Amino acid sequence: MSAAAQPTVEDWKKRASALSFRNQAFIAGKFQPAQSGKTFDAISPLEGKAVASVAACDAADVDAAVKAARAAFDKGAWTGMGPARRKKVLLKLADLMLKNRDELALLETIDMGKPIAYSTAIDVPGAAAAIAWYGELADKVYDEIAPTDPTALALISREPLGVIGAVVPWNFPLLMTSWKLGPALAAGNSVVLKPAEQSPLSALRLAELAAEAGLPEGVLNVVPGFGETAGQAIGRHMDIDCVAFTGSTEVGKYFLRYAAESNMKQVSLECGGKSPNIVLADCPDLDAAARAAAMGIFFNQGEVCNAGSRLLVEDKIKDAFLEKVIANGKKLQPGDPLDPATRMGAMVDHVQMQRVLGYVEEGKKGGAVLKMGGKQARSETGGYYIEPTVFDGVDNKMKIAQEEIFGPVLSTIAFKDAADAVRIGNDTIYGLAAAIWTSNVTVAHKMARALRAGTVWVNCYDAGDITVPFGGYKQSGFGRDRSVHALHKYTNLKTTWINLGK
Ligand code: NAD
Repeated sequence: MSAAAQPTVEDWKKRASALSFRNQAFIAGKFQPAQSGKTFDAISPLEGKAVASVAACDAADVDAAVKAARAAFDKGAWTGMGPARRKKVLLKLADLMLKNRDELALLETIDMGKPIAYSTAIDVPGAAAAIAWYGELADKVYDEIAPTDPTALALISREPLGVIGAVVPWNFPLLMTSWKLGPALAAGNSVVLKPAEQSPLSALRLAELAAEAGLPEGVLNVVPGFGETAGQAIGRHMDIDCVAFTGSTEVGKYFLRYAAESNMKQVSLECGGKSPNIVLADCPDLDAAARAAAMGIFFNQGEVCNAGSRLLVEDKIKDAFLEKVIANGKKLQPGDPLDPATRMGAMVDHVQMQRVLGYVEEGKKGGAVLKMGGKQARSETGGYYIEPTVFDGVDNKMKIAQEEIFGPVLSTIAFKDAADAVRIGNDTIYGLAAAIWTSNVTVAHKMARALRAGTVWVNCYDAGDITVPFGGYKQSGFGRDRSVHALHKYTNLKTTWINLGK
């Protein structure tokens, strides 16, 4: 396709105004209102206006969804199909996602504010690729036979758990959903999915596409609603076998409590982060590192769990390097998310914008030096935009270095040497990711070992794909999304011991 054929901002606006929204719960293959009749407004952060009125599900709807999911599981509607046919359905779903890419991307952009350039190029294709990858995996996983004495045959098999509750955040709604749906469905489970209240629209359309792809009724149910109602009802339900959660560390801990106080369901948690991006003086390419540092914090408006929110720079190059980062950051001013040229969009909602601006004030009060940004932008639109913001002179003890801001705010901290960088890098309750920029392969290996994080990048930031696991150490959670390892958390191990006699 020639560049001239690419849709313009006017084209996207026209398409946006013609969109129709799925706004009811999807239970047992049908859209239906919440049993209470309650709804909530889906507010687009682009202009701060309500775009849809969505079913506000609570415990009664969650219960209906779990019953539908259990019924589908018990009658073998999905597991009984066998892996090869499940693969076909998941591949068809991935294909339908790509065919409906622009609609799904628009839903994502309108609902949570990310630039259309990214929702079309990253979120939707990435989500479809995850569904396809696990679809492909469905008929390629073998069970085991144990090396026992010849008088027995011991089979070790992996069985689907049953009903999975998937509770996801708003920063990458489709992508986080697909990282859970892909392996959970490939393994043969039924799912009750709760999207975040800030971003319910793409999940509801996805459920419709899954039905069109041939997913049997009841295998995927979607219950939009709030955390304390629908989310808690999933956490406490007595007939859900496992909760797969992505969200904040605070809410992740609630799910552990819900599980303990209900049926001891399995819980996997993908939670927050405060990742150190460490630049040593022998960094092989300071320009590339500066570009990556800027994208590492400003991509997706900084609403990224593994954002490089702490920039640790060796003291002798700190000032020069920070200038380069700021020069890159200046190019990333927020714009209209529907403009294909925009690289930084709107914060998800008014609450999040205020929270982030509160941290900027906190940083200034705490003695950090504001080098760039720090203010609301594009307020004339009625939407929720924040300038890319950089602090220098940050001490790792400060709140802006310890707490997850989840916005475009970078905290720069100087260090003396590699050991000092590792000490500061690990001085956090989180352990999601870290990066090291150095020309010395020995230093890179030693630091990568010493950093307590689920992912460590060397001479890059935020690289990875569906083939490698993603998840945290410490209070960033446990359990992994992506790769074959993620499949395991949706299965139980069964031993079948057959006595073969003497
Ligand atoms: P959140 O924890 O507020 O909400 C996540 C989900 O939990 C939502 O669906 C919400 O409705 C639900 N929820 C909220 N309160 C609840 C309660 N009391 N009981 C049950 N459910 C409840 O997180 P968020 O603001 O939507 O997302 C941002 C967070 O997600 C950040 O901390 C970010 O780091 C994290 N995140 C982590 C990863 C990862 O893979 N580690 C990926 C993306 C986002």
